[in-house]
Amino acid sequence: MDYSQRYDVIVIGGGHAGTEACLAAARMGSRTLLLTHNIDTLGQMSCNPAIGGIGKSHLVKEIDALGGAMALATDKGGIQFRTLNARKGPAVRATRAQADRALYKAAIREILENQPNLDIFQQAADDLIVEGDTVRGVVTQMGLKFYAPTVVLTVGTFLGGKIHIGLQNHSGGRAGDPPSIALANRLRELPLTVDRLKTGTPPRIDARSVNFDTLEKQFGDTPLPVMSYMGKVEDHPEQVCCWITHTNARTHEIIHKGLDRSPMYTGVIDGVGPRYCPSVEDKVHRFADKDSHQVFIEPEGLTTHELYPNGISTSLPFDVQFELVRSIVGFENAHITRPGYAIEYDFFDPRDLKYNLENKFIHGLFFAGQINGTTGYEEAGAQGLLAGANAALLAQGKASWSPRRDEAYIGVLVDDLITMGTREPYRMFTSRAEYRLMLREDNADLRLTEQGRELGLVDDVRWQAFCEKREAIALEQQRLKDTWIQAGSAEADALADRLKSPLSREYSLHDLLKRPELTYADVGHLKGEPAGNPQVREQVEIHVKYAGYIDRQQDDINRLRQHENTAIPADFDYSVVEGLSNEVKQKLTENRPETLARASRIQGVTPAAVSLLLIYLKKHG
Ligand code: FAD
Repeated sequence: MDYSQRYDVIVIGGGHAGTEACLAAARMGSRTLLLTHNIDTLGQMSCNPAIGGIGKSHLVKEIDALGGAMALATDKGGIQFRTLNARKGPAVRATRAQADRALYKAAIREILENQPNLDIFQQAADDLIVEGDTVRGVVTQMGLKFYAPTVVLTVGTFLGGKIHIGLQNHSGGRAGDPPSIALANRLRELPLTVDRLKTGTPPRIDARSVNFDTLEKQFGDTPLPVMSYMGKVEDHPEQVCCWITHTNARTHEIIHKGLDRSPMYTGVIDGVGPRYCPSVEDKVHRFADKDSHQVFIEPEGLTTHELYPNGISTSLPFDVQFELVRSIVGFENAHITRPGYAIEYDFFDPRDLKYNLENKFIHGLFFAGQINGTTGYEEAGAQGLLAGANAALLAQGKASWSPRRDEAYIGVLVDDLITMGTREPYRMFTSRAEYRLMLREDNADLRLTEQGRELGLVDDVRWQAFCEKREAIALEQQRLKDTWIQAGSAEADALADRLKSPLSREYSLHDLLKRPELTYADVGHLKGEPAGNPQVREQVEIHVKYAGYIDRQQDDINRLRQHENTAIPADFDYSVVEGLSNEVKQKLTENRPETLARASRIQGVTPAAVSLLLIYLKKHG
């Protein structure tokens, strides 16, 4: 049966990529359909119920700056908030929230159900309707046909999903959910490059069986951080504490003994796992000199006893899991509520995608999330938003949009994926961004909200709040420049202790704030009212304190932009460029970057190689 309603955008999969994708397309005015296995699992966190962290919170704030749902849902579901790297520079500061799984899901569902232009339909997508090299729609498990000029595929770990616990395995999308077999088979018929990856999760523990007296407590931060630029502390539910324990020599011995029944160490699993989120057996094996690893014990929610022991992800047989858990201090009598497991799944080589996340070979088909080789809710959400927005743009006959590496972590993520591909689950870090001083989590709105508004992603309420904030920052910067403190005045005396010597002449508040000994809290109130909004105070302080570094980074960006415009002909013969190593020639020939800037980002292409190319292109261009 053909479904009579025609859509502009169909999104398959209601995980983190899918929800941001369909919301973005619908916000932009496109008639959008979200097809998902199960409405009750919309926005479900397959693993750790936590959002944010280093590099990841930057993505969440960018999604938020573009009107997305993840940060708003985190503020409504977060039961412990912390600012990581609080003592380090603003570029690497990151907000992390432990979430109540059920509250987070409910918040996402509420946003989805109240989004105009969006229909949700519970059905597995089994097939794509492809005519020639163009996607036309989707066929569901019960044979319903839905038509649209664009389809966004966000099916996570479900394609050909295989769950492993010890040497036993079965098909599954994640524990408790079916895999996508029909769709996986169909996609393997299309001209797409498919490979396998794996990820894993720890056993969950019943809090009633844990001895908390022996555990170290870990509290959230005060004042309480918020994730969304629109968020308020009052949005947060009750806050709780987490705990810390450790593995020990006995735990490691149990793991070593179980390795002969590990699917990873016996070669049953082919897929490569996440390097930065390894299983406990991987950690014990790879870092054999360490006799202990930290385990963070995090509540799964306010209304459940289940705990998430962060750090002991495992696919060892259940009897080994049981023993290893009980060897850990505090877990001596622990009851496991769900076994840990690993899952292997299909992913597609992201080098087959364009900057808008549309497939190069099938027009109108977009890919986002875990199926592009990434890991993490935040990475998935960011890609989802970008793919959904670009699907809407394509359906509306408009040019595509993708932020540059110097504008957003979303730009870094997409550029890394489509230029270099990935052989292991890709996660975001601040170290992946060469312009991280510009790409801070505190200024994602200043970087992106205006672009989001132009695209139609940002609603009136957010836009107004943003404009007021931007104006308040400008006014406060001007006030600091216009306000002077005379030597010998009461205000100058108030600073003498901090400066260790009295002021020798007149200074503006702006100049005083540049001094390393002084903060906004020291000078903002000296003459007149300081800014009321803490986000405004933070921006003013960072701008003044880091102006020199920020300007230098801006110069680098401007220099690179010149390269960005230096095109490399599609049929360019790299073998004629003298001085390039064979390895660099091979990588460039394989990747065929369109510009010099893109060439420079291919792994192994050194700055020296880029200079040689630039000289050659200028001489022969
Ligand atoms: P998902 O969240 O998986 O969502 C996919 C959605 O698509 C689901 O709603 C599903 O029902 C739906 N769907 C699938 N096929 C179809 C179909 N044919 N038709 C209709 N709907 C369909 N990330 C980390 O950062 N750290 C970790 O340690 C970590 N561990 C993990 C452990 C496990 C066991 C799993 C399963 C995941 C883990 N992840 C981890 C990954 C994290 O869950 C994903 O990165 C994130 O959920 C990806 O979001 P997504 O939207 O791409 O896919």
